[in-house]
Amino acid sequence: MTYGGSLKEMIDLLEKHFKVSDEEFIAYYLCRRGYNPFEVLISIIISQNTRDDLALIAFNNLKGVLGDITPNSVLNTPINVIEESLKVAGLYRRKARVIVECAKNVGELRSYADLNSLPTNDVRELLLSIKGIGYKTVDVFMLMCRGEKVFPIDTHIRRVLRRLGIVGRGDDYLRMQDIVHSLLPPDYYLKAHILLIELGRKYCKARKALCSKCPLSNLCMKKLVISDDRFKHHNTAN
Ligand code: SF4
Repeated sequence: MTYGGSLKEMIDLLEKHFKVSDEEFIAYYLCRRGYNPFEVLISIIISQNTRDDLALIAFNNLKGVLGDITPNSVLNTPINVIEESLKVAGLYRRKARVIVECAKNVGELRSYADLNSLPTNDVRELLLSIKGIGYKTVDVFMLMCRGEKVFPIDTHIRRVLRRLGIVGRGDDYLRMQDIVHSLLPPDYYLKAHILLIELGRKYCKARKALCSKCPLSNLCMKKLVISDDRFKHHNTAN
């Protein structure tokens, strides 16, 4: 199988440039430390729309209250207690509701460990049926926890891929994912996910892209066709 070279070359460049700590990626961090798959799933829900360091504080707060985070321990805890432990991560009421929904659905399995052993499609279907869980949450879980060959796309990655000229503004999640899958070998998906988020956090920021310092500046479509100043002026809402 052959792959389009340019995105792969960019990932290779980023790999040389960044020293990424696993603590910056909550699901990756927890998986590497042997947390149970339900806990990893809950951590991904907590990390929606917030920084991973704050999500980790909220996760540890919840763990402090529940002990092992399992469907049973969630369902046996008053929702206001769950909300209180999640406050630091924002959107805590919505996240608490999604976590309870998740506990109800996963609680119907023989064991929450089945999240790691059931066939891919069964787990994907189960998780996508839970209100508040979408493709990105499922794909992060599948990649980090199960080692599935899938590339999750978050807001940083969407913005970076658009600016690099790899996806278009009209491309939806699944279309963007198809494009990346066609450009990268599967064993790149995990590091590409982490490195492109790091690029979005450190250089390709939403409000002000730091193009002159960016390791991809010589390869980036936006940087190549628009001068730095005009770019800052016209591209603030990606
Ligand atoms: S050169 Fe600028 S727009 Fe392109 S990826 Fe880097 S920071 Fe983003």
